[in-house]
Amino acid sequence: MFVNSPNEQRRNGRGQGMLRAHNTAAVLHLIWAGNYSRADIARTTGLSRSTVTGIVGGLLQIGVVKESSTQSSGGRPSTLLRVNERVRLLVGIEMGASHISTVLTDLQGNFLSTRSEPVDVQGQPQLALQRMETHIHEMLSELKLNSSALAGIGLAVPCPLTESDVLDLNILPLWRDIRPADQLRARFGVPVMMDNDANLGALAELWWGAGRDVGDFSYIKLATGVGAGQIINGQVYRGSGGIAGEIGHTAIDANGPLCRCGLRGCLEAMVGREALERQVGTDLESLIKNANAGDLASIRAIKNAGTYMGIAVANLLNLMNPARIILGGALTRAGDLLLTPLTQAVEERALFSTVESSRVVLSQIGPQAVAKGAATLVLQAALNDHSLLTPMPALAGAQSEAPQ
Ligand SMILES: [Zn+2]
Repeated sequence: MFVNSPNEQRRNGRGQGMLRAHNTAAVLHLIWAGNYSRADIARTTGLSRSTVTGIVGGLLQIGVVKESSTQSSGGRPSTLLRVNERVRLLVGIEMGASHISTVLTDLQGNFLSTRSEPVDVQGQPQLALQRMETHIHEMLSELKLNSSALAGIGLAVPCPLTESDVLDLNILPLWRDIRPADQLRARFGVPVMMDNDANLGALAELWWGAGRDVGDFSYIKLATGVGAGQIINGQVYRGSGGIAGEIGHTAIDANGPLCRCGLRGCLEAMVGREALERQVGTDLESLIKNANAGDLASIRAIKNAGTYMGIAVANLLNLMNPARIILGGALTRAGDLLLTPLTQAVEERALFSTVESSRVVLSQIGPQAVAKGAATLVLQAALNDHSLLTPMPALAGAQSEAPQ
């Protein structure tokens, strides 16, 4: 999708501006990926050398890109370029049903600071918002920065999102009339982008994790709720109304328990946090610890959850044929106790050909995967629109003091 210089000359002013933005984004993506010289960029994009030189010059001037090292190819030295990973920083927040995790990263995804704490997000929306703001203030002041250092804030929420950025009131009834993205935007004066937690877990796997080398995979988050993020052709698939991936509300047992969504026998009603905690009478963390210590009731609960998950995964494989199923979320800390019955159920129920071409793996990014995915949402936007990475003098004095 690159347009060569002869076409550029035929465009009018507005068209040229859009074209330049498009070409700049293409160049910036390559430089971010690393180890490109101006000549490499021209070759890869099909843009003329002079167009590339002009775009790179502009990015160097505003400090988004820097020259790193010189290599010699065929006797001629060429300078490699890289993105200045600290020109702006990224904040990612995972708002779980019962916890908040916040990360501050540079543009290469390195964690500079992290926070995580249990918060009754469902029951206390104002407290939850206040804790998110405090996390951001603390992390910025740790690095002696204010919010003008941020390209933006990404926010992962534990429910499907429709176009209007309104939270699902079936899942978060007390969040009626509360717009967390608007509130954070007003507080910090930077762009705030929001998506569903499973979609952002999938995005993190695509950029940094077990999905880096495949274009089609499913990420399933097993926590309080059960949700899936679908990557199709390297893009998050959201469906026509933004609620694709609600694997937690596919039926596993027609006569199963009633689910919070009002349906019966949903996967989530059988393997979600509440269902498991009810079965064993402890919290999920103790359940996993007790199972690892050999407690039979705990082992049985995790084994059953693995089998139900395997049925759902088999259905997903038959429907979508993803190259990989990546499992994340608190329940995956049970490791093989969960994975062994899960893969067994998959092998029993999925078509042989789909099992052959797919692998079920655990997320390697760790407990901050979803928050990192939220930061990645901002990174993705910033590489497409580098104005998010340039200094904004008007906002340099944005509020940086800790809340009282
Ligand atoms: Zn349900």
